[in-house]
Amino acid sequence: MERNWAGNLTYRATRLETPTSIDELRQLVAETPRIRALGSRHSFSDVADTPAVLVSLAELPGTVTVDGDRVTVPAATSYGDLAATLHTHGRALPNLASLPHISVAGGVATGTHGSGDRNGCLATSVAALDVVGADGRLTRISRDDPEFAGSVVALGALGVVVSVVLDTVPAFDLRQTVYPRVPWRAVLAGFDELMAAGHSVSLFTDWAGENLRQIWVKSTGEPPADLFGVAPATTALHMIPGESTDAVTAQLGVPGPWLDRLPHFRLDHKPSSGDELQSEYLLPRDRAPEALRRLRALAGRIAPVLHVTEIRSVAADDLWLSGAHGRETIAVHFTWRNLPAQVAALLPAVEAALLTLDARPHWGKVFATGDLAGRYPRWSEFRALRRDRDPDGRFTNPFLTRLGLV
Ligand SMILES: Cc1cc2nc3c(=O)[nH]c(=O)nc-3n(C[C@H](O)[C@H](O)[C@H](O)COP(=O)(O)OP(=O)(O)OC[C@H]3O[C@@H](n4cnc5c(N)ncnc54)[C@H](O)[C@@H]3O)c2cc1C
Repeated sequence: MERNWAGNLTYRATRLETPTSIDELRQLVAETPRIRALGSRHSFSDVADTPAVLVSLAELPGTVTVDGDRVTVPAATSYGDLAATLHTHGRALPNLASLPHISVAGGVATGTHGSGDRNGCLATSVAALDVVGADGRLTRISRDDPEFAGSVVALGALGVVVSVVLDTVPAFDLRQTVYPRVPWRAVLAGFDELMAAGHSVSLFTDWAGENLRQIWVKSTGEPPADLFGVAPATTALHMIPGESTDAVTAQLGVPGPWLDRLPHFRLDHKPSSGDELQSEYLLPRDRAPEALRRLRALAGRIAPVLHVTEIRSVAADDLWLSGAHGRETIAVHFTWRNLPAQVAALLPAVEAALLTLDARPHWGKVFATGDLAGRYPRWSEFRALRRDRDPDGRFTNPFLTRLGLV
């Protein structure tokens, strides 16, 4: 059977269906007792997996349609392709993830996010979803629906999303500037000021030593002349040592369109390392200093297993299963080396440091804990919504069952 992007997961599905019309998809869903939607396969966890039938919407017809300040997007469209079309209409999304390769429906379903104190996760741009439900009917769920906030970051549990309507903003220019080796001491003392230094700010570290590896600032205006006295880099840098800088989006403060600066990685290149696993934990912002202190104390164990950590901010939202639900958030991400046994052995120590600070693991990345219910105030409402929408468990899978969402 097929594998995910990283190759750490072989899907257990017995069949992969690729319907070529919405009617075919509706019939397939209605006739199949257990079925899951598959996006562009960039999740590291088994969130998409099923021992039954997977359905990809990559062959469904449909085009990106811009209408005023809204855009309707076929579910399998990549953010990169969507961004290119939006830009030709003078429109934009306020933020993107580190890579433009992921599908819009897949990114929305797991609460995928970029960085920025005022940027919510990508799902916060969703105004409506067209979903094939458990009975095979196609229904639109809009922002004025009382169950909308439970239906957006939905892990594929409520049906197969066929198209997504997103709010857009006017297209804008950005500059991307990288500051190498900024001291931890200054970063911790001026953390809030630093995270507000641009439209989107990412801190990269391997936790070892007295300096961070790099800080990437994406600014709509002039970038800071320096960060705590550290001047910008004068050559392009990849956040993972040894990786080609051909793969990263334009840096050096050169202004250019939002879609060529918001992601770290270019659509026509390999994102990240490729030989990796990923984990991420989303924390209440006021617990972040303690989280960073605890992780620095674990540096000796983390650094040998790590390509790089990225620290980002995410604005609070009201989406029930979003990692940023109800709280301003700091997300601490780990791009691990492709060492599954070592990563599995280390995760309990990382989680022991973070879970007591009310961290929520990213749904699409690897995590060890099964103790999630108390971390989401609307958990039981989501369970009830899922039961109501899918009483026979057509869209359930081992991931949802293991975590108590079924
Ligand atoms: C190199 C790399 C970089 C990454 N960077 C970031 C980042 O910057 N920020 C971040 O938050 N995450 C990041 N991720 C994680 C990634 O964004 C998420 O795992 C995302 O969900 C992947 O989307 P996908 O289309 O590949 O979905 P898949 O992995 O295929 O599926 C994920 C979930 O979406 C559901 N789904 C997919 N399509 C549909 C549909 N049509 N209807 C209903 N449900 C559907 C699936 O059932 C499943 O539950 C990164 C991953 C990689 C590999």
